[in-house]
Amino acid sequence: MFRSFLLYLSRQASIFRFVRHNGFAKSMASRFVAGETLDTATAAVAELNAQGITCSLDLLGESVTNAGEARAAGAAYVQLLDAIKAKGLDANVSLKMTAMGQDIDDALCEEIVRSILERAKAHGSFVRLDMESSAYTQRTIDFFEKRLYPDFREHVGIVLQSALRRTFDDTQHAIAIGCRVRLCKGAYLEPADVAFPEKKDVDANYVKCMHALMERGNYPGLATHDPAIIAEAKRFAKERGIAADRFEFQMLYGVRRDLQAQIVREGFRLRVYVPFGTQWYPYLMRRLAERPANVWFITGNILREIGSGSRKRVGSGA
Ligand SMILES: Cc1cc2nc3c(=O)[nH]c(=O)nc-3n(C[C@H](O)[C@H](O)[C@H](O)COP(=O)(O)OP(=O)(O)OC[C@H]3O[C@@H](n4cnc5c(N)ncnc54)[C@H](O)[C@@H]3O)c2cc1C
Repeated sequence: MFRSFLLYLSRQASIFRFVRHNGFAKSMASRFVAGETLDTATAAVAELNAQGITCSLDLLGESVTNAGEARAAGAAYVQLLDAIKAKGLDANVSLKMTAMGQDIDDALCEEIVRSILERAKAHGSFVRLDMESSAYTQRTIDFFEKRLYPDFREHVGIVLQSALRRTFDDTQHAIAIGCRVRLCKGAYLEPADVAFPEKKDVDANYVKCMHALMERGNYPGLATHDPAIIAEAKRFAKERGIAADRFEFQMLYGVRRDLQAQIVREGFRLRVYVPFGTQWYPYLMRRLAERPANVWFITGNILREIGSGSRKRVGSGA
């Protein structure tokens, strides 16, 4: 119930306009978002790289409403790839197709995404197409497979969500064509005809898809903070003799940092998804919805930091 409410709030642009400059909301965001600028984000990446963690940078932004905004987002990604290269960071990028104009015009979206992929290819980098709600699943997979993958094979990959009933079939197909997949549970509230309503089924489907990807997939990204699933991945790798460099774990910036450190200590690969930018509100609300206890946890932290006079803010470089 509270989760649905938080997800409802995540879609309310009027609330974002209200909280955009609110210090308390920005403090909450700073736990999950690496500031509002390219400099704060690349500084966060450098810090993670120093701990042996690779990154995927996400310039926050979702469904844009005009071509100008989409082109600006595309240009910012090209600049981001250049900055990663210039600063020698171990990072790739993740983007949302709706931020590139997917809701405006397919041809425009293709032109923008291809310009990003050309730059990624030139720099030997990689672009992950994040997956949004199930309304976009088929469109995103078709776009990926028909318009991008043939020209940019090792430089582009998709995301599949174990919450969706179709995902095991999509996983098999991705394995058949050899493309790179990030597997996650799925962050969106979905209708029961397309998604499993029960968490235990989402988790079981995750494990089923994960086994297939680990055994036969192309360098899968296992995006989860679920300790039971992570333990199963390690067990399965050992049992099947799958080397630690054939897959990577992926986690979100600021989430389960203890587990992140443990994975690196144990010699597994870890990539942290590092979101940044001014459009942090929907992203923050999805993270809070995943674990409503975060609302109280972060509020408590902020109050303690206010008490000790050391409060951090989005955009402050923290
Ligand atoms: C690298 C990465 C990329 C992602 N990309 C996408 C995408 O493209 N599309 C999409 O729909 N979703 C994406 N997600 C989000 C994902 O779908 C889930 O919503 C999110 O990861 C929570 O699921 P979980 O697997 O961690 O398991 P859960 O069962 O939700 O959580 C397991 C445990 O992890 C911890 N945890 C999980 N979330 C949080 C949190 N927010 N704060 C604190 N602790 C937490 C808790 O200890 C929890 O008990 C991505 C996630 C990651 C890690």
